[in-house]
Parts: sequence; structure tokens; C-alpha cells
Amino acid sequence: MPMSEPSIFTRILQGEIPSEILAETENVFAIRDIAPKAPVHLLVIPKTAQYRNVVELAADDPALLAEMVGLASSLAGEHADGDFRLVFNTGANAGQTVFHVHAHVLAGSLDEAGLGG
Ligand code: 5GP
Repeated sequence: MPMSEPSIFTRILQGEIPSEILAETENVFAIRDIAPKAPVHLLVIPKTAQYRNVVELAADDPALLAEMVGLASSLAGEHADGDFRLVFNTGANAGQTVFHVHAHVLAGSLDEAGLGG
């Protein structure tokens, strides 16, 4: 996909693709993953698409990364018992398919939960 094309998550944020926005902060929003791999499987996504992965994000804007972790934690409390696994697939060989950084928030019974791919 060319860099000029909006990512699927930007299109969701702009309402072009339907998906309920479960929660948002000033710079971050959350949706349910369309193909859940755990009883609770949410995605926490920066509103900006400028970072392709968590390495770029952490290097350039650690406060935004912290905002993502904070929203993930509050969602895990709202949708499960507060415990959660946070996964950033980084690179195609690690299962990343959308190059607009996002965190997978996995919660519930995780014994059988895969990590993506
Ligand atoms: P990645 O594989 O890049 O780490 O994660 C991308 C995630 O986005 C996948 O788990 C996939 O199921 C999810 N996804 C892809 N398209 C859509 C969509 O249109 N809506 C929602 N809610 N999730 C999507």
C-alpha cells in the first residue's frame, strides 16, 4: 500500500469503515479486533498514522506509547479482570499486517490464545 493511502485504522477512525470505537483519549482510540484470538481481543491505536511500528513510536513519542498502555489497562479492567497481554507485532515476519502501529490487548482466559499471524 502506498504511504499516501490511508490505513485501515485511519479509515475506521474517520467512519469510512464501520467499527465501534470502544474508547478514546486525546491521541488514541480502541476497537474490537475483527478476528479475535482471545475472549477479549481489542486494538489500541494512535489516531496518527505516522508511526509504522512500536519501535518508531517509542523512539519518537514515548508519551504516546504510554497513553496507549494506559488505555489498554483501563480497557482490560472494563472488559475483563484487569489482567492483560499487550502485543505489538513488528514486521511482516512477526505477523504484522497493518503498518499503522497498534497494540493487541488480549484478556480473558489466555491459555489457548495465539499471538497473531
Ligand atoms: P497485525 O496483524 O498488523 O498485528 O494486526 C492487525 C489486526 O487488525 C488483525 O488482528 C486483524 O484481525 C485486524 N483487522 C484488520 N482489518 C480490520 C477491520 O476492518 N476491522 C477491525 N476491527 N479489525 C481489523
